[in-house]
Amino acid sequence: MQNVRDGSATMADLADEVRILRQDLEVLRTIIDESPDVIVLKDHEGNFLLGNRLVADLYGTTPEQMVGKHDGDFSATPEQAEFFRQNVLAIMASGETEIVLEDSTDERTGETRHFKSIKKPFIGPQGKPNILVIAHDVTDIRRSQVQIEISERRLRYVLDATGDGIWDWHIPSGRLVNSDRWIEMLGYAAGDLTGSLEDFITCLHPDDADEVMEAVSGALATTGGYRHEHRMRCKDGQVIWVLDRGSVVEFDEAGNPVRMVGSIADITERKKAEDELAAIAYIDQLTGLPNRRFLQERLQHVLSRGLRLGSFSGLFYIDLDHFKVLNDTQGHVVGDRMLQQFGGRLRGCVRDMDTVARFGGDEFAVLVEGLGETADQAMMAAVAIANKINAICEEPFDLSSIRHRITASVGITLMESEDASAEEVLMRADIAMYAAKSAGRHAARFFDPEIQAALSSRLAVESELRDALLAGGIRPAYQGIVDACGQLVGVEALARWWHPTRGVIMPADFIGVSEQTGQILDIGRAMLRAACEQLAQWSRNPQTATLTIAVNVSARQFGEPDFVDEVLAVIAETGAPRERLKLELNESMLLHDIDDAIAKMTHLDDEGIAILLDDFGTGYSSLSYLQRLPLAGLKIDRSFVDGINHSAGDAAIVRTILALASNLGLSVVAEGVETTAQHEFLREHGCQMFQGYLFSRPGPIEGLQYA
Ligand code: C2E
Ligand code: MG
Ligand code: MG
Repeated sequence: MQNVRDGSATMADLADEVRILRQDLEVLRTIIDESPDVIVLKDHEGNFLLGNRLVADLYGTTPEQMVGKHDGDFSATPEQAEFFRQNVLAIMASGETEIVLEDSTDERTGETRHFKSIKKPFIGPQGKPNILVIAHDVTDIRRSQVQIEISERRLRYVLDATGDGIWDWHIPSGRLVNSDRWIEMLGYAAGDLTGSLEDFITCLHPDDADEVMEAVSGALATTGGYRHEHRMRCKDGQVIWVLDRGSVVEFDEAGNPVRMVGSIADITERKKAEDELAAIAYIDQLTGLPNRRFLQERLQHVLSRGLRLGSFSGLFYIDLDHFKVLNDTQGHVVGDRMLQQFGGRLRGCVRDMDTVARFGGDEFAVLVEGLGETADQAMMAAVAIANKINAICEEPFDLSSIRHRITASVGITLMESEDASAEEVLMRADIAMYAAKSAGRHAARFFDPEIQAALSSRLAVESELRDALLAGGIRPAYQGIVDACGQLVGVEALARWWHPTRGVIMPADFIGVSEQTGQILDIGRAMLRAACEQLAQWSRNPQTATLTIAVNVSARQFGEPDFVDEVLAVIAETGAPRERLKLELNESMLLHDIDDAIAKMTHLDDEGIAILLDDFGTGYSSLSYLQRLPLAGLKIDRSFVDGINHSAGDAAIVRTILALASNLGLSVVAEGVETTAQHEFLREHGCQMFQGYLFSRPGPIEGLQYA
């Protein structure tokens, strides 16, 4: 173009230039016409200098025909046309580019289209101000926006209608948006919330929080979704149950979850209904007691826990004897009443923590935990409970029309660990119950044959012992106690059961049982009375007047509140010289209630009754006890005496006990002296009194050698 400007160009050059320019213009025109946007050039009065094909189409004309015309010449209304003109004037006056949204009617279809227009003022070739308008058709975008808005509104409506609270969690930032319903459900106002995950965590029920957070993080790590039922706490502290669902809806490029949305639905009512149903499912309607199903589940629980606790539990299966007769003769109403009253009494005879259930019909069951640490303890505790169950039947039942007495058959099974399923345990108790029935009803039986055998022999001992006590079959044997010169100074009364067929039964075979059954109290009384009568008799003969009698006292006996009074009463009744009576206590019985022991011992001491500590050295009593206790003397246990000549340790213990007793001013009796070597050793180390086979065996009073 240089040569055109500087005037050196030829006509041919000019023609060439014009042709090139025309071609450029043609290209430009094509670009403008093909533009998907409206392109318009207007002069300062708003007349078209140029319009592309798109705008011409919209106005139902051609680009050529538009030139020199204005909007009013086409589809625009006069008002619109005037508005466009004024708009052009205003833009020119301001000189600023304007970006606006405008509507325009498509001349061909009659529909309204929306445009985003850029209107840029500039000075045209004639030095006059022109305006370039480029308008982008945003109709489709607008439509989809409207569509989205409608969808959202519809969605919100549907969600609101379901009553669910919606949440939207932006995971990286922790931002949490909750719907109005969510906020309302938990009793909050929008202003109460922080808009972060904290809002959710705060509302979680503390007992469920860990579980929920686990479900959420599990979902994030795996499937991206979760569904969980849990409790939430409202602002006012009220607790609601919700069904909480969440799902990841957006991931980043690395596949990490970015957004999770979900909902909570209030299921409190449903949970309540479920609980009520469950309660019904576990309750016997007639008695209000738990039913078989409940007991079975409880049993399962106890079995798995027993292993940990390491203690015995017991299951009692109870069937009323001849209930059917009552039911058939008196009618169901009376029968039902009987079952209700029995259920109530049964409930009342065990601890609150024990489970009492009705299995249906006239069958009941009781599950008792913590019966004892050893099988023996558990067995005796179970017997005590069976006795209680027996006892609740003694009082007649008031069945409106009649007063009725009933008995029960009880099956018992003990369990220590999960060695059986709940079903098996129930079956064992059931079998034991049938054993009780076939034993003639009104009885209790253990499932375990060994336990049953042990119990049977124990029960036999108990009942025979009862007879023996009534018949005076428990009487003392006396064993002499001699001084250093071999002179008889007193005796120890040792209980013997003079059995009509089995001969003499030794204490080891009946003292233990009697302690458990309480019969030791009667044995103790019988022994004390016999000893006192003997003392009274001796006191009338100068040859025997100075002899003493030592009586053994069991822990149970000593623990009786009126023990001292009873001793004093027996002394008074028999006229025994109290200073000749000695009571032998065992160290272990002092451990239970040392203050009570000291009080009783002091009382006895004040009354002039001597107390000896029996089996000394085998217990745990600390030396400090010895000073606090009003003791008259010690009895060195047979086991140490036995060891004197072959165990340096035993010999040392015996020496120490003798030295200790001498320091404390206590008398000492060595028990179980069998050999002269033992006797020698004891004498050498200061022992003054001896008891043992070397001198005499326990026997009837007539066998004693006084000289
Ligand atoms: P204990 O009070 O230590 O009585 C001494 C026991 O040693 C007696 O056994 C006696 O027969 C035995 N014995 C005495 N000298 C010798 C000996 O040289 N060698 C051997 N090997 N044994 C000897 P027993 O009569 O069988 O009595 C055993 C335990 O039963 C008594 O021990 C006492 O704890 C208890 N017991 C006896 N009678 C009664 C009673 O009336 N009431 C209470 N609560 N317990 C009693
Ligand atoms: Mg003794
Ligand atoms: Mg002893």
